[in-house]
Amino acid sequence: MQAVPKLDPNFRKEVEEKVGSADFERCLFCGMCTAGCPYTGLREDLDPRKFMRQIALGMREEVLKSDYIWLCTICERCTINCPMNVNMAEVAYAIRGKFGIMPPGDIMFQCRGIGGAKSQMRVMADWIKSERIKVDKSRNEIPVTYHDPCNLGRKEGVTEEPRFILSSVCTDFRDMRPSGRYNYCCGSSGGALYAAEHEALRISMGKLKAEQIEGTGAKIVATACQNCVEQLEEIDKAYNLGIEVVYIHDLVDRALITS
Ligand code: SF4
Ligand code: SF4
Ligand code: SF4
Repeated sequence: MQAVPKLDPNFRKEVEEKVGSADFERCLFCGMCTAGCPYTGLREDLDPRKFMRQIALGMREEVLKSDYIWLCTICERCTINCPMNVNMAEVAYAIRGKFGIMPPGDIMFQCRGIGGAKSQMRVMADWIKSERIKVDKSRNEIPVTYHDPCNLGRKEGVTEEPRFILSSVCTDFRDMRPSGRYNYCCGSSGGALYAAEHEALRISMGKLKAEQIEGTGAKIVATACQNCVEQLEEIDKAYNLGIEVVYIHDLVDRALITS
């Protein structure tokens, strides 16, 4: 018989107080966040709606012991699906640091914010537009697609500049579907995902990305974040995509007219 969970009626309030952005009054428990998460179905505990319900019901022990806190990539794909603007991803992230809990392994890693890439993207786009640098797109004829890093595309809203740059320096740019703010995370990051015991899970979290890339027919995948590059290279090997993974500036460099 399944054990009845102990409920702590003060837990929800405590989470609200410690995690400024958690507003459980707004949550309808509708499950749109779960529908928006690219990893739904991979593991029973990778389920943002279930996590919200556990907090609301006062299931302190289950929440604080949950692997979900460390496996969620904080990519915010669930957040843009939420009709009530509840930032589920921030709730999971903040709980990591506010309840004295430790990650379930030695390796902790989380990519957060890539402000440098944002300004780099804007500068490159401006220089191409103003012809401060001159480029010859015929030097990049292999089909190229772009992976929007969630920190840059979804969280910073930088989606137009990379596409302008790639269309300026490549003859055959192909977008993934979905893309931009709605792009799927690559399945990297997520706190504990780089621990050896989660490697298989991390690779399976990249399957959707592999399918997206294959769907474009592109043989080069450009991106703008080092963590994405590393995971995309692993996805390439695991799913035999036969792609080259590059930074956007590599393609600008190849197209640059220097004399
Ligand atoms: S967080 Fe948003 S999407 Fe998720 S269950 Fe609550 S209201 Fe629905
Ligand atoms: S932040 Fe990303 S990985 Fe975490 S629950 Fe939301 S969509 Fe899933
Ligand atoms: S590695 Fe890239 S796609 Fe994955 S969470 Fe980080 S920014 Fe997002």
